[in-house]
Amino acid sequence: MTEKVAVPDYVAGICDALRENGFESYLVGGCVRDGVMGKTPHDYDLATNASPEEVKRALSSYRLVETGIRHGTVTAVTDSGPVEITTYRIDGEYKDNRHPESVSFTGDLKLDLMRRDFTVNAMAYDPRGGLVDLFSGREHIGKKLIVCVGDPDARFDEDGLRVLRALRFASVLDFEIEEKTAASVRRKAGLLAGISRERVFSEIKKMLCGPGAGRVVKGFAEVIAPTLGGVTEEGLVRGAEAIGMTEPSPAERLALLYAASGADEADVTESVRGLKPSRAESREIISTVRVASSRLPDSVPETRRLLGREGGKATVAGMRIRAALGDGNAPEAIRTAGEIIFRGDCVRVADLKINGGDLIRGFGISGERVGKVLDDLLYLVTSDAVKNEKNALFAEAEKLLR
Ligand code: ATP
Ligand code: MG
Repeated sequence: MTEKVAVPDYVAGICDALRENGFESYLVGGCVRDGVMGKTPHDYDLATNASPEEVKRALSSYRLVETGIRHGTVTAVTDSGPVEITTYRIDGEYKDNRHPESVSFTGDLKLDLMRRDFTVNAMAYDPRGGLVDLFSGREHIGKKLIVCVGDPDARFDEDGLRVLRALRFASVLDFEIEEKTAASVRRKAGLLAGISRERVFSEIKKMLCGPGAGRVVKGFAEVIAPTLGGVTEEGLVRGAEAIGMTEPSPAERLALLYAASGADEADVTESVRGLKPSRAESREIISTVRVASSRLPDSVPETRRLLGREGGKATVAGMRIRAALGDGNAPEAIRTAGEIIFRGDCVRVADLKINGGDLIRGFGISGERVGKVLDDLLYLVTSDAVKNEKNALFAEAEKLLR
């Protein structure tokens, strides 16, 4: 942990430009936290006492995008990456436990830092003058603690999403949640019901992939279970203990928690739909749970068909979940699936060296019959009964249509 944070030139250049125009400018939020921890931040946010109009004038030589001008944010797009510049602000009243009704700008850095959620996220860094740490963020990084800025109950009441953000940072940074903040997290878990599903899902996904995920899921099962739906507290505890044996992918880890809770496909579908995932995410999670919850294939042909139905990623993830939950046959199934994927065996109709057009032209059939012949050919190919070669498939199709 250091007092000095490495600031790349393209970020320092923007700080300098603002300062040359008479304004204050600090790095704030996650990039300061990561920098103090000696990690390379994935992006940089600046805060300034300049109004958005003043920022635009001071940075007129930059390519600027008005990404959130109402909230005071202008983004400078540089060749090395974007930098968000936000005017110091105070969040207005949070009427819906979600977002402030209004924000007002302020000239006081302290007020901007006070509105931030956790002490580790509430430091500012001036590339020349050093760290501004009004709430002991550095000490808490040293002790690996997530602590609310101010009164936890009040801060969670303002924005219920912070309950999940506390779990997310505890997992991703591998920190503990300080006692008072933790007690408040449990008391205020109900607020999550009023938060938009998209925001909830985004935090849950990050939380599940952090190095502390197992500990956090186990320790806060009663907070997570009702938020997620489709899982039980006991299932979360069981899943949490196995989480380290799965890959840190949101779909795989969510599927683990459903599978460990014994959720059936209908429960999972309903719960996943409630999280407002993308179509692809939803398909991936449901397929993975299906693989994790059904009998493992015990032959090469069966494994090929499963891969064809559920896709390679979901199949292997589902098998890994079974292994993590103690199915001794799963490692062998994973090996078999891996070999099939590596060889590039035919597992789907689309992999056949013959297509619907070929059948229509070659045999004058149409409609459902085309699909039926292709399905039968796929079955034969995945069973090693016919080679996946055009001539062999034509000959076989002819037999099937006789
Ligand atoms: P990450 O590395 O995931 O981007 P981050 O700390 O940058 O982490 P963001 O969600 O990008 O997290 O938020 C940026 C900063 O804005 C936070 O560090 C925090 O200071 C503040 N912040 C974000 N969301 C909230 C919130 N709901 N309540 C209070 N402060 C918040
Ligand atoms: Mg960020």
